[in-house]
Amino acid sequence: MPENEPMVLVFLGPPGAGKGTQAARVAERLGLKKISTGDILRDHVRRGTELGKKVAPIMERGDLVPDDLILAIIKEELKKLPVVRVLFDGFPRTLAQAQALDALLAEMGLQVDAAVLLDVPEDELVARLLKRAQEEGRADDNEATIRRRLEVYRADTEPVVDYYARKGALFRLQGVGPIEDITECILKTIGAA
Ligand code: AMP
Repeated sequence: MPENEPMVLVFLGPPGAGKGTQAARVAERLGLKKISTGDILRDHVRRGTELGKKVAPIMERGDLVPDDLILAIIKEELKKLPVVRVLFDGFPRTLAQAQALDALLAEMGLQVDAAVLLDVPEDELVARLLKRAQEEGRADDNEATIRRRLEVYRADTEPVVDYYARKGALFRLQGVGPIEDITECILKTIGAA
C-alpha cells in the first residue's frame, strides 16, 4: 500500500479493550498518524490550558466531552497533515461526531476506509482497567468512573458501531489474546497485511 495515499482508520471499542495499544501498533505498521482524542485531552489537563480546565471534571466523571470541543481538536490535527493518513483512536464516540467526521472527510474527497471494533467481555474490561489504575494512576481509572465509562460507551458509542456496520465499513474482532496476534489479525482483517 503506497505510503503517500490518503487512508483513514477508526478504532472503536469499550474502555479497556486495548484500543490505544493496538492503535499505536497498527499506525506504526501502516505509517499512519495516530490521533487519540483522549491523549490530546489529557495533555491539555496536564498543561492546565483553558480547554484542560474545562474538560478535567468531565473526564474525571467518565462523561463525554462536548462534540464541538472534540471536533475543533480533530480539525486542528487534520490541518497539520500534508497527506491525510490517520488512525483515530477513541474518536468518533457519538453519532454526531461520526457524521461530522464524514462531512469533514467528504470536503477533502475522502471517507473512513475501515472502522475496527475490538470486542472484549465486560469482566475482562473491568479487570484490565483496575489493573491500569494501579499501574498508571489515571484519574478516571477508579471503579465508579469505570462503570460510568462503560455505560456511556453502551449509550453513546454503540450507535457509532451500528453506523459503520450499516455502511459496510465495520471490522469486528476479538480483543483477547497475545498483543502481537491481535495486531496481525487487525492488519489481515482490514486487508493491509
Ligand atoms: P480515552 O483515553 O479514549 O478513554 O478517553 C478518556 C476520556 O476523554 C473519555 O472518558 C472522555 O471523557 C474523553 N474523550 C476522549 N475522546 C473523546 C471523544 N471522542 N468524545 C468525547 N469525549 C472524549
